[in-house]
Parts: sequence; structure tokens; C-alpha cells
Amino acid sequence: MVEVKGRKIVIDPGLALGYRRYGLLPHPAQVAVGEQVRRKIVAALEDATDVVMSHFHGDHVPLPDANPYQLKAQQVAPLCQKVRLWAKGPAGLSHNMMSRKQSLCKVLGRELPNAEGQRDGPMAFSPPVPHGEPHSKLGTVMMTRIEDEDGVFVHASDIQLLDGEAVSLILAWRPDIVLADGPPIYLPWLSSEKRASAWDNALQLARGVDTLILDHHLLRCEEGLSWLDRLSSETGHDVICAADFMGRPRCLLEAWRTRLYREMPVPDGWHDAYSRGDTDTSAYRDYLDLGELRPGMVLEGKVKSIVSFGAFVDVGLGREGLVHISELSEGWVDKVSDVVSVGDEVRVKVLDVDLEKRHIALTMKGAKQPD
Ligand SMILES: [Zn+2]
Repeated sequence: MVEVKGRKIVIDPGLALGYRRYGLLPHPAQVAVGEQVRRKIVAALEDATDVVMSHFHGDHVPLPDANPYQLKAQQVAPLCQKVRLWAKGPAGLSHNMMSRKQSLCKVLGRELPNAEGQRDGPMAFSPPVPHGEPHSKLGTVMMTRIEDEDGVFVHASDIQLLDGEAVSLILAWRPDIVLADGPPIYLPWLSSEKRASAWDNALQLARGVDTLILDHHLLRCEEGLSWLDRLSSETGHDVICAADFMGRPRCLLEAWRTRLYREMPVPDGWHDAYSRGDTDTSAYRDYLDLGELRPGMVLEGKVKSIVSFGAFVDVGLGREGLVHISELSEGWVDKVSDVVSVGDEVRVKVLDVDLEKRHIALTMKGAKQPD
């Protein structure tokens, strides 16, 4: 959602979880996060004046034939009746995508007018640019430029940084902030030549904008994070992921799928039961709750245990946070038990959340203690 000059523009109201990766269906913890994101998309649509559809892949638009992990077009159709619609045109759409677009029109009860190359108020739309490499069977996407007095934002959609011309087009738009997907380096068959060309394109783009947000395909494996760091240090410009931009902890659930199954085993038949509506994600909401934590938040908790290096505090998230001995009080602490005892009600402030390890670092400094 981009808010500008009295308009609330929702770009790509869709959600999909990689259906099968490493031979595994989405882990219920990821499904829980997916449900939350769907709720946020629906809430954004309730407020939207404009809806943009950059292309018709199932992770970018609501679907008439959604699987249990995607956003249903039938659910959002009532919310799309009054908004202005701006959609990718027919150029470069495969037969499948054309028929998906048609069935989406049918469910929405509206046309999806071709916005490519058009302008309207603060918005401008690109001509078709390749979804990744030029001339691939993935076809083309439409990019969106939004301008206000604070600057220019570009949503580059799924260009994958695999086409130099698309990058030049973005730079010609003189953006301050760009959101793009980055190359799919998780695919073992992405050749080293393509990786190298995506890297060069990423460098060029990063040098040309203040803030480059790379996410989506790039962060389906952990190696993507090292791209962000290397791009930042080589260009001296901010290259970050979407979670960084929003001040949220990084959460690479797609990359962590195998480990999620190891750490939180899933009973046989869970996915079938979920599809039928016979079970839900309530037992798997750790990441959801932890993902809501922000550094600086003050929480009430209870001291559960004490160790030589600090105190573990239950803050009601199914996981205890650690107050390190150096964070128990402003002054020097000799022994943890000098400050807190098991069972004490304490007020703590969030220092840091590591979603990968599911660690919460807490401090009692600057959190006024209950009397
Ligand atoms: Zn796509």
C-alpha cells in the first residue's frame, strides 16, 4: 500500500506460499503467517482508492481457483467494486495467464483495463518489461512509478534483475526508493552467467537510488541476505529487504522450511485437515507473535528461571526471552539473584529478536519496574 496525495494505492494484492519446496508443503507456521498477511491485504483493500496488478502470477493477484495458501478472488471481489483498477496488458501473457485474467475479471465482475504506458496523477506505468530474462516463457510484467513531494517510489515487480533494459528504465524514472524482487538464486539451475549479470544490474541499480529494497525471489534462500550486505558495502547505498524497511525482524520462512519441519514436527494429514477446515494454525503461531515484536517495545513478564549469565523471562509468547546480567540494571550486578528471583513480575524492553533462532533479547534498563 502506498499512500500519496489522497490516494491509497495497493500494488499486487496477492499471496502464495511456495506450494512444494524440498518435497514439503508449507509448514503450518508459515501458513499462519500467510493467513495474517491475507488479513492485512484485505484490510488494505477496504481502504484502497486504486489497485494495481503488475502481472497475473498467483503470488501477485487474488485467484479464482486459489489453493488453501493463497488469496481467494471471491473473498476480495466485494472490496474491488469502487476502486480504480490498473492492470498489466495482454502483451507477453501466456495462454494460461490470459485465461486466468479472464476468470479473474469474471469473479470481480469488472474489466481489468490495460494500464501499460499510462499516467494518472501521481502514478505512471511502464511498458511491458521481461519477467526475468527477455523472451522467456514467463512473459512480461508492468512496473509502477509513484511520485509525491517527498520523492519517487518504484515498484519493479518480478523483473528479477535479469534484464539490463528494465534496470535502465527504472533509473530513467529517477527514483528515490525502489522495491524489486532480485534474482532467483535459490534455483540450482540459474547459471553463473545469469547470476553475474543480475549482480551487475543490482550494483547499477543500487548506485542509482538512495534505498533499494530487494526481496521476494532473492530471499527464498539465505544466500540472498549476503547479497544485501555486499551490495550495501560495495555501493555505499542502502540495500535492504522489505522487513528491514518496515523495521521488522527478518523472517525467511521459505528458506527455513526444512528446519521448521524438524523443529516443529507436523502430524500426518495436517494439510488435508487444514484444507477441509478441520484444523487450524493455532498451535503454530510462534513466528506470528515473535514477528510482531519490535526493539523498544515494553512488555510485562514473569521470571521463569535464573542462570549465571541472566534471567529468562516469560513474556507470553510461548518462548522465553533472556535478560542478560548486564541488562538487569543500570549499575554493576554481581549475582543475578541480587536483582530478580524466580516468579518476580518484571517489566522488560525488547532489545532484539532473532527469528531464525527464535531468540528474544530483553533489557530491564529503562523499563520502569512495577511497584
Ligand atoms: Zn511472477
